[in-house]
Amino acid sequence: MDHFALKDGVLHAENVPLPQIAREVGTPVYVYSRATLERHARVFREALDEVPDKLIAFAVKSNPNLAVLKVLQNQGYGADVVSVGEMRRALAAGIAPEMIVFSGVGKTRREMIEALEAGIGQFNIESEEEGLELAEIAEGMGLTADCALRINPDVDAGTHDKISTGKGDNKFGVPIDQAGQIFGKLASQKGVNLRGVAVHIGSQLADITPLESAFAKLGELIAGLRGAGHTITHVDLGGGLGVPYRKGEVLPSPAEYGAMVACVTKDWGVKLIFEPGRVIAGNAGVLLTEVVRVKRGLNNPFVIVDAAMNDLARPALYGAYHHFEAVTPTGESMIANIVGPICETGDTFARDRQCDLVKSGDLAVFRTAGAYGATMASSYNSRGFVAETLVDGDKFAVVADRVGADSFINAERVPDWLE
Ligand SMILES: *Cc1c(COP(=O)(O)O)cnc(C)c1O
Repeated sequence: MDHFALKDGVLHAENVPLPQIAREVGTPVYVYSRATLERHARVFREALDEVPDKLIAFAVKSNPNLAVLKVLQNQGYGADVVSVGEMRRALAAGIAPEMIVFSGVGKTRREMIEALEAGIGQFNIESEEEGLELAEIAEGMGLTADCALRINPDVDAGTHDKISTGKGDNKFGVPIDQAGQIFGKLASQKGVNLRGVAVHIGSQLADITPLESAFAKLGELIAGLRGAGHTITHVDLGGGLGVPYRKGEVLPSPAEYGAMVACVTKDWGVKLIFEPGRVIAGNAGVLLTEVVRVKRGLNNPFVIVDAAMNDLARPALYGAYHHFEAVTPTGESMIANIVGPICETGDTFARDRQCDLVKSGDLAVFRTAGAYGATMASSYNSRGFVAETLVDGDKFAVVADRVGADSFINAERVPDWLE
C-alpha cells in the first residue's frame, strides 16, 4: 500500500497535490512519500517478528538519497552498501557503523581500508582472493574484520537475467560446493573473524520458492561448517523480494516471506541479517513528468514526456514496466507509445500502452520509481540529474537539487594546447 492517490480528481503524494511540486520544483522530479517508506519499513520488520535476533540493513543502492536513508535510520534500519560512496552516505545519515554491511564483488583495497577505519559491522566476502586481501590489510592495520562468506547457491531466482545473482555462473559469491574448503582457508587468517555466510540470489523475485531453496541449501552448509569445527553466529539472507509494478499484480507479501524465513531458519541459532531494497523504496516513489507534446504515429501516437531513459533507466535496461498515470485524469484513455526526448529508440517507457488520455502540458507520473530510479541516472544527452523531493503529510522538501548541464560543463576542461 502506498500514499499516492487521487483526491478531488488530482493525484496527491500524501496531502500534497503533485501539480504544486511541479510548479515549485519543475519537472521531471522524483517524489518520495515518507509515510509510505515508514509503512513498508514497519511491515517488513513486523513480518520478521518471529526472528529473535536480526539486523535489517536497507540496500542503499536501491535509493541512496540521504533523506530516505534518514527515514529508515529512524526506523531502526542499518545499511547494506556496495561501495564506500554508499557507506559514506549511510554514515552521513546517522546509521551506526556497526549496522553497516559491505557487499560487492569488486571492493578495492582503498575501499576496504576506509571501511575498516570506519569500523563497519560486517564485510560480505565474495571470493577467496578478496578474503585473503582483506585479511592482510586488516592485520596490517592491527584490526580484525568481522566477515561472512557470500555463497553462490546455484539457484535460478526466476527473475530478469540482469538482476539474477545466484546462478552458478553469475559473478557473485563462491560456488556452494567449494564453500567449505574456502571457508576453512579464510577462517584460519588472522585479520578476519569469519563468523557466517551470506546469500543474495537476485532482485524483483515474484516467487519465494527460489529463496526458500537457497536458504535450505545454506542451512545444510551451516551444519557442515559447524561439523568441521567452525563457529557460525551470523547469516545474511540478502534482499530480493519483488514488488507489484502493474495494477492488480500480486507478489509474495513480506508476511509470507517472514513465515518462510522463520520456518527454514528456526534451528540455526544465529543473528539473521536482511538486505531489503526494492520492497521498501519501490512503491514509495514516483517520477513526475510533463507531457511535452503528443505526436501522431504510424499506428499509435507518441506521448513525448520530459523524463527520459537517463532519469529512469529500468525500461531501457530491463524492458521493465512502470505504470503511467495522468495527474488529473479525465476518465478517458488512449493507446500510446510513451517516450522520452533522448535520441535513442531505447528511450521508450511503453509501447502500445493503454493509458490515461494526456495532451501537451499535462502532468503524469511513472509509478514505482522509488527504487532503482534516480540512483541509476546518467547525464546522457547532457540532460543533468533531476531533483528529488520528499513529502511528509502536507509539506514537502527538495531532498536533492536538480543538477543542470552546466555542472557537467564546468567540470570539463579544454587543454590549452587545443586553443
Ligand atoms: C541489490 C542488492 C540487495 C537489494 O535487492 P532488492 O531486490 O532491492 O531487495 C541486497 N543485497 C545485495 C548484496 C544486493 O546486491
